[in-house]
Amino acid sequence: MAPAERIADAHPLDRLLRSDRLPHIWCPGCGLGPIMNCYVQAMLDSSIPLERHVIVSGIGCTGRVPGYVNIDSFHTTHGRAIPFATGLKLGNPDLEVTVFSGDGDLFAIGGNHILHAARRNIDLNVICVNNFNYGMTGGQLGPTTPRGAITSTTPYGNPEEALNLVHLMAALGAVYVARWSALHVRQLERSIARAFEKRGFTFIEVLSPCPVGFGRPNELGEGLDEMRLYRLECVVDDDADLADCAIDLRAHRPLVLGEFVDIERPVYGEWEA
Ligand code: SF4
Repeated sequence: MAPAERIADAHPLDRLLRSDRLPHIWCPGCGLGPIMNCYVQAMLDSSIPLERHVIVSGIGCTGRVPGYVNIDSFHTTHGRAIPFATGLKLGNPDLEVTVFSGDGDLFAIGGNHILHAARRNIDLNVICVNNFNYGMTGGQLGPTTPRGAITSTTPYGNPEEALNLVHLMAALGAVYVARWSALHVRQLERSIARAFEKRGFTFIEVLSPCPVGFGRPNELGEGLDEMRLYRLECVVDDDADLADCAIDLRAHRPLVLGEFVDIERPVYGEWEA
């Protein structure tokens, strides 16, 4: 007997997605889909009403996420997601504001802004999707491109050291700092839920396959191959020395993931003089 055909009229997350905007623009094998799914699922699980959640992005492939999430969404100019979100939060303290953006947007063009938001402990959640390059604009070198990596602007290998994002954010006083990969969906979802609970500046880095911009020139294969790399090379160590957590995909040393920082600190606007 043939198995019964199972047809679903709707997906459980449909009400949180702007399905009228699909199909999305992302390449097959990109990590952005599962990462966005974790964010949406964490919102559904949170006790904060959906009307209070707001998402803000800058430019780039990750910057497109707010366009697909069916809550109040802002797609701002390049590198300006943090100042926009800061104004939004300070003017509307009841909102749960999440900046969901890429490594280039947050740490190159917007680098100045994120440093000061972290040290001031502005009450924002930042999810930084790190795919090690500028995917949307042609796979150029960015501040998180590992040393030695091939990009369209470093055909002989990147001669620069990459930023160690979790170390930097912890040093600036972020009250919550975590790093996962697009493969570690349960951990990522829990981390986002924890960030929603925290008051102050939270930062989650998510390592993501970019098979087109980064995987191909560096012979990492397709998106699934990069996911396999994460399965093989990642270790979870919440107590790791963050100074030693820089990423080098060619060094065959572990990619350290974890929930590194979870502290309390006075939030911007509530300091005593
Ligand atoms: S270029 Fe890279 S980051 Fe952009 S959609 Fe394609 S795979 Fe994803």
